[in-house]
Amino acid sequence: MAGIYLHIPFCKSRCTYCDFYTGINESQMDAFVDALCTEAALRREEANEPIGTIYFGGGTPSRLHRNHFEQIFDTLYRYYPIAPAAEITVEANPDDLTDAYAEMLGSLPFNRLSMGIQSFDNSELQFLNRRHTAQEAIDAVRRCQQWGFDNISIDLMYGLPGQSTALWQHNLEQAVALNIQHISSYHLIYEERTRMYRLLKTGRITPVSEETSREMFAMLIDRLTAAGFIHYEISSFAREGFFSRHNSAYWKDVKYIGLGPSAHSYNGKSRSWNVRSIVRYNKSGENGLFEREQEQLSLQERYNEFILTGLRTMWGIDLQKLKGRFGEELHDYCLENARRYIDQRLLQTEKGTLKLTREGIFISDGIMSDLMRV
Ligand code: SF4
Repeated sequence: MAGIYLHIPFCKSRCTYCDFYTGINESQMDAFVDALCTEAALRREEANEPIGTIYFGGGTPSRLHRNHFEQIFDTLYRYYPIAPAAEITVEANPDDLTDAYAEMLGSLPFNRLSMGIQSFDNSELQFLNRRHTAQEAIDAVRRCQQWGFDNISIDLMYGLPGQSTALWQHNLEQAVALNIQHISSYHLIYEERTRMYRLLKTGRITPVSEETSREMFAMLIDRLTAAGFIHYEISSFAREGFFSRHNSAYWKDVKYIGLGPSAHSYNGKSRSWNVRSIVRYNKSGENGLFEREQEQLSLQERYNEFILTGLRTMWGIDLQKLKGRFGEELHDYCLENARRYIDQRLLQTEKGTLKLTREGIFISDGIMSDLMRV
C-alpha cells in the first residue's frame, strides 16, 4: 500500500511558530485546485500499488470549499487505485468547523479528522496567534463527534515560553476529557523563518529550561498512557486501533506521492519535492510542467533514515530487516554503537528488534544520531 499527501497551502492568518509553506491569499484557490488535479492526473503512473492512505495537510485544508474537495476526490478516484478501506484524513482548524462545515466534511469520503488545537488556554492561544479560543476548540470537537467522526486526532504543543507545568497539566486534562482517539504532541521548536524565532533572538521571550521540557514530556507520557492511550511514536498517542496509518507509513518506509507546492514524495529509492511557490505551481498547472527536485538516496542515507524512523516508534528497528536491506556491515555498525546505550538501559533488544526504553526516549535525538552513519 502507498500513500498520497496533498498540501493545501492556505491559512486565514499565520501562527507565530509555523514555518510550513502556506499563504493567506485565498483568491488563488480555484486555480490551485485545478493545478493540484492536473498534477494528480499526470503522476498517476507512480501509483503502482493500492493507495492505503490519503492525507489532506497544509496549510489549512479546512479553508477549501465543498466543490474543491469534490473536484479533488473525483480526480483521485478516477486515476488512483484507492483501497476500499483507505484511511482518509483532513486537517482542520477549529474556527472553520461550523455545523455546516462539519456536516459537509462528514458527507465526503473523509474518515479521520486532525485538528490543530495546540492549547486549551486562551492567553497561550493568543500568543501563538491561533484563531480560536479554548471553548471554540472544545465545541468544534463535540460538533464533529455529533456529525459522526469517530476517529479524531488533535495537536497539542508544550514547552511554550512561560508555560507552567500546572497549565500543561490543565491542557492534558482537557484533551483527555474530549474522548478522542488520537493525540499528537510536540515541544515548541523555534524555526528560523518564524515570528517566534525573532521574539527569541531579540530577547523578548525566554525558552523553558531543559528540566521543564523533560518534566512536561514525562507528564505527557504518564497522563496519556494512564488514560488508555498507547504511546506508539515519540510524539503520537492513540487508542487501540487508531494509530495514524498515514504517519505510520512514513515511519515504516512506505512509498508516498506528495501533491501540491512544497510537497515531498518518496518512492523507496529517491525523494523529491515540489516547488515551494503557489504562483509557480499554479503556472505549472497551466502548462503541465511541474517543477520538482529529486535526490537519489545512497545506501547510507537510506540506512540513516531507517534508523531515524524506526527508533521513533514503539516497534523499533527490525534487526533482520536491517541486515537484509543494508548488509552485515551496517547491521554490525548499528549494534556496535547501540551497545553502550543497551548497557545504560537506554536501548533494549527484544524479539529481534532494537528499541528505545522509557529513559531512552528522553534523549532519543542523541541516540539516533550516534547510530546513524555520517
Ligand atoms: S500552524 Fe497551521 S494554521 Fe497556523 S499558519 Fe501553520 S499551517 Fe497555518
